[in-house]
Amino acid sequence: MHNDGVTVSIYQFLKKFPNEASARAYLEKQRWNGHPVCPRCGSMERIQTRKVEGYYRCLSCKVDFTVRTGTIFERSHVPLDKWLYAMYLISTARKGISSLQLSKEIGVTQKTAWFMLQRIRQACGSGSGGYGGFLSGIIEADETYIGGKETNKHESKKLKAGRGAVGKIAVLGMRERNGQVRASVITGTSARTIQAKVRGAVAPGSILCTDEHAAYCGMAEYHHQVVTHSAKQFVDGMAHTNGIESVWAVLKRGFYGVYHSFSEKHLQRYVDEFSYRLNEGNCKVHTLDRIDALIRKTSGVRLTYANLTRPFS
Ligand SMILES: [Zn+2]
Repeated sequence: MHNDGVTVSIYQFLKKFPNEASARAYLEKQRWNGHPVCPRCGSMERIQTRKVEGYYRCLSCKVDFTVRTGTIFERSHVPLDKWLYAMYLISTARKGISSLQLSKEIGVTQKTAWFMLQRIRQACGSGSGGYGGFLSGIIEADETYIGGKETNKHESKKLKAGRGAVGKIAVLGMRERNGQVRASVITGTSARTIQAKVRGAVAPGSILCTDEHAAYCGMAEYHHQVVTHSAKQFVDGMAHTNGIESVWAVLKRGFYGVYHSFSEKHLQRYVDEFSYRLNEGNCKVHTLDRIDALIRKTSGVRLTYANLTRPFS
């Protein structure tokens, strides 16, 4: 835990990590706590330090490795201080950051910046960061729709378009009252699809607050509270969905404001980035603690350029 204040300014951050060596030392400390661990056999017993700084060899496996091996940083030529700064920006920019902006800030091509952001988002969605467990207590669940030309229409017209308007992608979100968020792209809004997602994320016995969409009905393991939006019964004591709706507001502001366009095959990663920020981004949590949480998520995650640019099926 870092306990010297709560927020770290860009100036402070860049002073702390001015070069590759300082960033590497920090990542090594976070990942290995000072004792390099072989990525193949998991041993830290017979590890030899190589002549080139940051390189290690496991004498049991005869495998050379660095702190990048087996993480999103593997096979990237971008210095680790630039990676760390990109992670700082992702963690602190409320609406996110575009690849164009990142490319200018760290001096890489926009294509490289885009690839970096996609990898960091992939890490945001990995389960190793401590929020893999079930949500419990009062849970708000709701879907939203992203994309399509509908976004430019006035709100009242959009509502008439009905659920799952053509050309849009549905995202299902669940949020503990004042707590953690889970959100994922879903292929449809049938009861079967939605209930499988809810059961995969929400502990039995929880209170489930949703709107009147029939897909949420019939799950006996929850206490279901229905908010009747059509009757303008928006806030009825406990039964409201304001929390998850505020998540959609943040997601959409960022999505349309920062990213301008999106591709369906990358949407889950964008949603993961926003979820990470909402879950770890509490302003009472020290900036470096948030980045440490993200660093823990970078292990075991690989995303190759070939994977990223493969046609969506
Ligand atoms: Zn080994």
